[in-house]
Amino acid sequence: MPDFDVIIVGAGPAGLTLATELSLAGARPLVLEKHLVPRETQKASGIGGRILDVLRYRGLLERFEAASSDPNIAPRFPFGTLQLDFTQLADPPMRAMPIPQHVIERLLGERAHELGTEIRRGHEVLGVTQNAAEVTAEVRGPEGTYQIRAGYLVGCDGGRSRIRELAGIPFPGTTYPEVNRLGQVRLGDAVTVLDNGDIDVPGLGRVATGFTRNDRGVFAFAIDPESGTTSLMATENETTEYDDEEPLTLAELSASVRRVLGVDLPMTDPKRLSRFTFKDRQAERYRDGRILLAGDAAHLLPATGTALNVGMLDSVNLGWKLAAAVRGRAPEGLVDSYHNERHMAAGRARLQTRAQVALRRGRDDADEALRQVVQELLLDEPALRRMGGLVGHSDIRYPMPGVEHPLAGTFAPDLALHTEAGATSVAELMHNARPVFLELADRPELRVIAQEWSDVVEIHSGKAEDQPADALLIRPDGHLAWAAAIGEPADTAADTLRAALTHWFGSPAGV
Ligand SMILES: Cc1cc2nc3c(=O)[nH]c(=O)nc-3n(C[C@H](O)[C@H](O)[C@H](O)COP(=O)(O)OP(=O)(O)OC[C@H]3O[C@@H](n4cnc5c(N)ncnc54)[C@H](O)[C@@H]3O)c2cc1C
Repeated sequence: MPDFDVIIVGAGPAGLTLATELSLAGARPLVLEKHLVPRETQKASGIGGRILDVLRYRGLLERFEAASSDPNIAPRFPFGTLQLDFTQLADPPMRAMPIPQHVIERLLGERAHELGTEIRRGHEVLGVTQNAAEVTAEVRGPEGTYQIRAGYLVGCDGGRSRIRELAGIPFPGTTYPEVNRLGQVRLGDAVTVLDNGDIDVPGLGRVATGFTRNDRGVFAFAIDPESGTTSLMATENETTEYDDEEPLTLAELSASVRRVLGVDLPMTDPKRLSRFTFKDRQAERYRDGRILLAGDAAHLLPATGTALNVGMLDSVNLGWKLAAAVRGRAPEGLVDSYHNERHMAAGRARLQTRAQVALRRGRDDADEALRQVVQELLLDEPALRRMGGLVGHSDIRYPMPGVEHPLAGTFAPDLALHTEAGATSVAELMHNARPVFLELADRPELRVIAQEWSDVVEIHSGKAEDQPADALLIRPDGHLAWAAAIGEPADTAADTLRAALTHWFGSPAGV
């Protein structure tokens, strides 16, 4: 008998999201994190796109909003030194939330604790072996080395994943040579901050908030009006020498900014200084037997603003599937569908982040022309909406063979519902991360089929004002496994519903 259902290696956003999803689904995960205390190094400064919908569907969005300086904004989203300006749209295709990554991790960790998940900090996984029945991890903890067994082990251990290496999973791709140096500082008194957040720099003049590109590199900054601190980043076209083992200092950051801007930018009070290079890599497969990968361990994307969303969504996709597997209720192919769906989804994230590489790195006149043309196109609302779906990772549609409804495979719309129990919504029905059969028109012949799976599927009936279908089958990750078109004949709807329930949730109990 294994000690735990699933060992999660790494308490970053992907690992902690997976821990909450597994616990919600009734599995017993153990999180092993090598660092004794959570670190506050500068990483993501916010999240946006589809994961915000998932947090709402889990009833967690409010606590994230409470910790954010500006919740639920329609953002100006960087796109390879251009900007996707969603602020003008009444109904923006993507929203974002400024919130530092270490706060995201704290909130997810608190949620995991509430759900009873054990998180062992200061425990580093050194080795992994597996057989047909279980996985064994060798762990170095504060009191020495020990072994622990589980049904599955998931490497959520970041871009340099040891688990990926131990499982022998190739990680092909490209590492770009430019070094990005960033941190939070206070600008010196000689710098004037203008009303719109631009700055006036002695010897240079006005520098616009956001990205500034010149023939030496890219400088980006944003001032937080509340704290008065400035987040800034410098990226030089020419590769500069640095020692990866040594932390970034204020002197190194200032020197890099000086080389890009051509003048001194006075700055003090450094916080969260760090360097990074962009990488464009993806694990060839996300599964090797009982070992799986999620988050940065599975993919590294060559632009900011996307990785957290994609990595946390990996975990939302994987959690319910692994929970079914450890309960012995996973139909054939369910765990493998994780690789199929999320490898494809990260491919789409690579598509848009690679396009950003071209826009960011291109230095000749033709590249400049490309930037101008793209920026012009992005003034058109349909193009901007399409880009919102792409960068927000909300245009992901998983294949649902045999289901022809246009919504099949998409994320379920958050319908306002009137039920016998009162007003509710699709988002509220998803708080427990259970599959939901939702009858939106009187279709007793379909409800009776869903009831055969009532030990795993929640069954609800309600009326929606904008009724998109007669009935929906929503997977725990919010994606629609099946939908009956309005007025769809009973025989075809019943056949496809039964097939979808069997495909995702196995045979009915007792069969
Ligand atoms: C400077 C910077 C800015 C960024 N900005 C953005 C942004 O704006 N938007 C965005 O979406 N993303 C951004 N990212 C990327 C984002 O930070 C990562 O995508 C995210 O951290 C990945 O989460 P993860 O959980 O997959 O891995 P990580 O956050 O890397 O977590 C992995 C965890 O595993 C632990 N670990 C590793 N090996 C072991 C082991 N053997 N045993 C036990 N524990 C182990 C590590 O200590 C770590 O806690 C940025 C990254 C950087 C560096």
